[in-house]
Amino acid sequence: MESPPILDGHMHLDPHGPSRESIVAFKKRGGTHLIVVHKPYSDIPISSLDDYRRSYQQTVDLTDKARSLGVTAWCLLGPYPVELVRMAKEHGLEMAMEIQLGAVELALELVDDGSALGVGEVGRVHFPVDDEVQNACDEVMLSAFRGCRTRSCPVQLHTESLRDNPDLMAHIAGLADEAGMPRQRVIKHYSGHSMIHPGVNHGLSASVQANRKNLKEVFTNRALVLLETDYIDDPLRPGFVMPLDTIPKKMEWGYRTGLMDDEYHRRLMVDLPDRVLGIDTQCR
Ligand SMILES: [Zn+2]
Repeated sequence: MESPPILDGHMHLDPHGPSRESIVAFKKRGGTHLIVVHKPYSDIPISSLDDYRRSYQQTVDLTDKARSLGVTAWCLLGPYPVELVRMAKEHGLEMAMEIQLGAVELALELVDDGSALGVGEVGRVHFPVDDEVQNACDEVMLSAFRGCRTRSCPVQLHTESLRDNPDLMAHIAGLADEAGMPRQRVIKHYSGHSMIHPGVNHGLSASVQANRKNLKEVFTNRALVLLETDYIDDPLRPGFVMPLDTIPKKMEWGYRTGLMDDEYHRRLMVDLPDRVLGIDTQCR
């Protein structure tokens, strides 16, 4: 029988990164499925909607490349929140927000034509900025929620940490409700293990960084969260944020330590991705 699937729920590819080696290593270790999240590319600086168009195409092409290496891959597309800060300096905040709203629409068009699974990473700036900037980010996020709700597709969020903003999850849950977007389909990327608790996550989904400390908490509680490496495929920082073969290795570690078993594995890597991302990881 085929071994159960292993999904990395949030990683990136770069045209100049060591993606081939990384994907081969992921696969060799038992990895099967990837969520390739759009990121800013150094060779396509963003200052217009057309730049987003070109950079999205790059993510779509890189996702195809991953598939050609024998893994199943889907991409998420969306305007990275931090780009709003830089574009606001160039165009003013209002115009920068308009460009990002257009970029959300563009991402949704690519969901409609089957090029992308959903939207991400959109959200809020993770360092201190003026309230008006975070409010503009919220507008962009809300438009993503509305578009994803219509299409029943998932959205992954990049935000400040819960430590910096303890009200964050309640705030985001409120925006999701306002848009009619199911909270479960809203995924907070770069979540810590505290996000396994309903009182913390407010019904929103979490993608948790696959470090030992987080996984010990997650596995011990048999919690259902996506696992991620946030691998960025940077030629200058190979293996950053975590090497791409981390999740298969950590699943092995789970089995070795008795924290993982087939039943929990299936709930974590088949049932949860189906519910949260709308994907069938039993298909290869
Ligand atoms: Zn990321």
